[in-house]
Amino acid sequence: MTLTSCIFLVAKFIALPMDCRKLMSISFSPGDAVFFVHPQHSWVRGSVISVEKDSATCKVEDKERKEVQQGETIAKVKSDGIEMFHNECLDDAKHDDLLHLSVLHEATLLRCLYLRYMTDVIYTNIGAIVVALNPFNYEIPRYKDDRMSKFLALGKHFDKVPNHGLYPHSWACAHNTYFEMVENSENQCVLISGESGAGKTEATKIVMKYLAGVSCLGGTADEKKHSDGVGAKLTACSPILECFGNAKTVRNDNSSRFGKFMEVKFNGQGRLVGAFTTKYLLEKSRIITASEGERVYHSFYVALRGKYKGHLQFESESTYVSVNSGKCLTNKEYDTADDFEEVCDAMKKVGMSDDEVKSVWHIPAAILNLLNVGLLEDKAEREFSTFDDKTQKFLVQAAKLLYVSDQDLLKELLYFVRTTPDGDIVSRTSTDGAIDARNALCKHMYDGVFAWLVEKCNETCDAQSQGNWIGLLDIFGFEDFKLNSFEQLCINLTNETLQGHYNNFIFNKDMAECRAEGIDVADIISPDNTKCIQMLTGQGGVIPLLDECCAIDKSTDFTFLDKVDTAHSKNTFYGKNKTSRDTFFVRHYAGDVTYTITSWIEKNKDTLRDQMKLLIRRSTDKIVAQSLPLPVPKEQQKGKAPTVGGFFALQLRSLMEKINATNPHWIRCVKPHPAKKALHFDGVMTMKQLESSGVLGTVKIRKAGYPVRIQNENFLKKYRVCVTVSTADPMARIESVLTNAGVSDKKFSQKGRTKVFLKTEALTRLERFRDECL
Ligand code: ADP
Ligand code: MG
Repeated sequence: MTLTSCIFLVAKFIALPMDCRKLMSISFSPGDAVFFVHPQHSWVRGSVISVEKDSATCKVEDKERKEVQQGETIAKVKSDGIEMFHNECLDDAKHDDLLHLSVLHEATLLRCLYLRYMTDVIYTNIGAIVVALNPFNYEIPRYKDDRMSKFLALGKHFDKVPNHGLYPHSWACAHNTYFEMVENSENQCVLISGESGAGKTEATKIVMKYLAGVSCLGGTADEKKHSDGVGAKLTACSPILECFGNAKTVRNDNSSRFGKFMEVKFNGQGRLVGAFTTKYLLEKSRIITASEGERVYHSFYVALRGKYKGHLQFESESTYVSVNSGKCLTNKEYDTADDFEEVCDAMKKVGMSDDEVKSVWHIPAAILNLLNVGLLEDKAEREFSTFDDKTQKFLVQAAKLLYVSDQDLLKELLYFVRTTPDGDIVSRTSTDGAIDARNALCKHMYDGVFAWLVEKCNETCDAQSQGNWIGLLDIFGFEDFKLNSFEQLCINLTNETLQGHYNNFIFNKDMAECRAEGIDVADIISPDNTKCIQMLTGQGGVIPLLDECCAIDKSTDFTFLDKVDTAHSKNTFYGKNKTSRDTFFVRHYAGDVTYTITSWIEKNKDTLRDQMKLLIRRSTDKIVAQSLPLPVPKEQQKGKAPTVGGFFALQLRSLMEKINATNPHWIRCVKPHPAKKALHFDGVMTMKQLESSGVLGTVKIRKAGYPVRIQNENFLKKYRVCVTVSTADPMARIESVLTNAGVSDKKFSQKGRTKVFLKTEALTRLERFRDECL
């Protein structure tokens, strides 16, 4: 490491606290070359025009960022939005690992990623993480599949081969993961996250393909054949799960609406033998309707167009309310009769019989019809619902597809049974009640058939193995929309938990490095979000309180919010917006998210009446009948009914237990521009994702310890003017510098075996002291 790069290590620690900045007394003068935060482009290059008390007026001078040329060129910036530009930054884009940047702060980080992205280098490492910017282009030669063999050919030690021109890459991540598993006989996991459309599912597929390839290396022809067979089965699962679990959204034409953890299993020789998939939270509202510009699940559209459309007796597409709800009928993927055929073929490959394939489609078809069944207010008795006769044919067709009686089906929509101490009473449903019952039936059946399909894939792909496994987690990233509901809370809880795991891991690794240098780390405290997680899922936390309310008949969304307010009003991770009655906010690691509590009780209960379950269970079609569970008999219903939040918290706990027992790797996917087009870059959007994906957190962790680490030799070279002892012993000379500068205390510095470990403030003091000595 050069002397200058050591000095600039100080800047490796993004988000310096203000007091530290003051200590460092960064002062800017007109004419200074700087990076500053531009409101439309995030960090850009420019110069200072004038300096005010806590801010400066800056001018954009950034030839590299094409898009910055348009729009405002002058901006007033707060002092924490300015960083000095150093010539060392000029070769930033060469670095494969952001931790090797000579000057690392938000500005240089963004610039480095930008410069690489614009030259079609989409992968960059930051320590243990691979940052992958979505290229929206499959034609970049160096990332094409045929190059994978070049990587594979490097064998075990490709990382030791310089200049092979491929590193970093998701392949490299898969490669390291695989060999760490083989060499250490230890289970691994690759945690892939990012916002919708960032490229998680693509990255998962890339890793999967590589693992299949690498596990065949050096095998016999038979072993290769077997492994290829397993790979083919795994590949076949993709279109099935995507067709039923993905949909077009404004962010992604093929957006997965469920989380997925796939345990890829190997035998004792490291050969691929199978995989087991666990699914998390399918977005159920998308079974019923989609917002403008989006679609319900792909399965509905391909069913309408596929070869069974006659058998399923569809009318024209414009007839069905749900597929038309988003006013967007077509899509690039999963759209045509051919796509339907492909999904059916994949179903056969995973072992489904012809009859089963046909039966599965009855469920989306029945749902399309059910959602056209009109349920209206009864004109005579307005508190009750009635059936719109004009939609008779849809009711009849839905019942036919489900192999149940249409009259029974209608009865379940318009009436319900209340259990009272005096016996069961049959009541009529309100209009909303009838519509809710219909939608709940659709949601539960679809979720059920999706679970059945996942099970089918597992039956074919899973294998008992004495060897190790690699878990691939493809899960929804942190979300903060205009309106955030219960689903966002579950998603953000997952991300908060994963961030906690990441923080722990990186922190411990960093501390291990310090200990190896003989540094005393007893006083260093890790950045910690356990209190936030505790507030959401611990005893008396938000989700347990919601469960509690769901168990009490009279609860409303507001009684729930009252309880949460009372329990957490003093918690630093909790807050209220003064202007709205129906919200609360959570201080997540990636920022504050305001949650609106409307319908949380209902969403969490997610009930489907027992009578409805019994009706479907009586269906003569096996798959239809199995799409719903049998009601739990009353005598077996212990305590509270299961809830969505409670179940999810349990699933999350078991996922974390698995992950905690593995050696982790991370791929953070970033969507650099909303337009879904190649070589488009939006600085603000990218920066926000770097923050929410924990990439910036890496730097914060370093900061908790001693962020500046200078080789002893370099340290003495630079500060020799500050030495006041005549000994040649390097340790004594270092001690002399630290003491003279007033930073020898442990809270400022420690001497390691080969490096001096410093807090950023200590470096600033040292720099000033050196100037005084000169
Ligand atoms: P996510 O799972 O994060 O929602 P996807 O993996 O489905 O996102 O990616 C969304 C879209 O982005 C893909 O359909 C594809 O068009 C594009 N994309 C993602 N990753 C890549 C890649 N590595 N190369 C080329 N295009 C990609
Ligand atoms: Mg996805």
